[in-house]
Parts: sequence; structure tokens; C-alpha cells
Amino acid sequence: MIDERKELVKRLSEFGYIKSENVMHAMEKVPREEFLPEENKSYAYVDQPLPIGKGQTISAPHMVAMICERLQLEGDMKVLEIGTGFGYNAAVISEAMGKKGHVYSIERIEYLAKLAEENLKRTGYDENVTVIIGDGTLGYEKEAPYDRIYGTASAPYVPEPLKEQLKVGGRLLVPVGEQAYFQDLICIVKKSETEFKEKSLGGVAFVPMIGKHGWPE
Ligand code: SAM
Repeated sequence: MIDERKELVKRLSEFGYIKSENVMHAMEKVPREEFLPEENKSYAYVDQPLPIGKGQTISAPHMVAMICERLQLEGDMKVLEIGTGFGYNAAVISEAMGKKGHVYSIERIEYLAKLAEENLKRTGYDENVTVIIGDGTLGYEKEAPYDRIYGTASAPYVPEPLKEQLKVGGRLLVPVGEQAYFQDLICIVKKSETEFKEKSLGGVAFVPMIGKHGWPE
């Protein structure tokens, strides 16, 4: 599967989704098949989202690459992810940052969170990725503030706790928009405790973010 992975990374680079050395290295290194249920492992290097159970999906590789690039990761960052799924994106972020960085990832569905923990342990990312079961629209106060926060599910508006838990100078990415349609990937840079610079990075399609500051269950 390593050849298929390398081939996919090459295409993602040619299409401009992968731009930097650390993201290329991470996408080449993390085995996506280890973050998929048995029946979908053979599709690991097709560039599309795939079902992981409970009505949820693993994000498409180009979307994972785009998020990693837009986060502008550095080696020693503290990152918060909303929506662990099976743990793939968190593993790629961790690999891109190296051993000094840490990813805290929140998943609301316990079944997925447990499997993500197993996947991360088997692939060696469990030391630098912590999975938390809970409502990610509340953020994760215990480890705040974060250098980077990103959501892999779409909310009706940017959840306020995520803005609060971002460091000054930090960057937040969240898909915002109607559930059944394309959403805007919103990028927020925190300029000061009270000032935020916001822009849209274009259309994306994610599953709904369900929670107190998201969509109702
Ligand atoms: N990050 C995943 C990956 O690596 O492929 C993608 C996960 S999937 C597109 C989005 C996930 O967000 C689902 O597993 C869903 O259960 C989760 N989710 C939705 N609302 C949430 C919330 N409020 N808090 C935490 N997780 C949530």
C-alpha cells in the first residue's frame, strides 16, 4: 500500500493541496488504511471520504492535506481537533508537527473515540494525540489555550468557546453553513483577546457538528 500512498501524495502535490515539506512527509508516513474499518481498507488511497460507522466518515485525503496546510503548523504547537472520527487527521497533524507537538482531539461518539484510540496506539501516535469523549463545541478548557483549533464537522456558526480557547496569534478553522449543502471553511486569526480577523477559505462538505454551540441532536 506504500506505493499507492506515495502515488496519491504525488497527485495531491501536483494539484496544489500539498505545498510544504512537513505535510508531504506526514501524508507519506501515516498509513490511512489503519484508520479505516476492514471493509474499506482497500479504498484507503482513493481520494474520497469513506464510511467509518455510526453515520460518520473519514475525511478525504485532499481535505486533510488542505486543513494541515491552512493550519500553518510548527513543531511545538498545542492543537485542538473537534471530531476525531477514527483518528486519521489527528495522526497526520501529529506527524507533521513531530514529537514536541500535541493534539487534543474530541469525539462525541464513544464507539468512534475508542476505536480511534486503538488506531492511534497501533500506529504509535498515542503519545502525542489525546482523545477525549465529549462535546467539542465547548472546546476543551482543561488544556486551553491552543495554538491551533480545527473542526472536521460543520457548525451553524463559529462556536464561541473555540474563539475563547485560542491563543492570541492562534488560528482556528471551522466549516460553517447549512448541514445538507456545501459549507464555508472559515479561518479566524485571533489578533487580541477581543479582536478576530475572519475570512472564508472556500467551499467544503462536512458532516454536522452536533452540540451545545452546534446543531441540535
Ligand atoms: N477527523 C476525522 C478524520 O480524521 O477523518 C473526520 C471525522 S468526521 C468527518 C467528523 C466527526 O465529528 C464525526 O466522527 C462526528 O461524530 C464528530 N462530531 C460531530 N459533532 C461533534 C462534537 N460536537 N464534538 C465532537 N465530535 C463531533
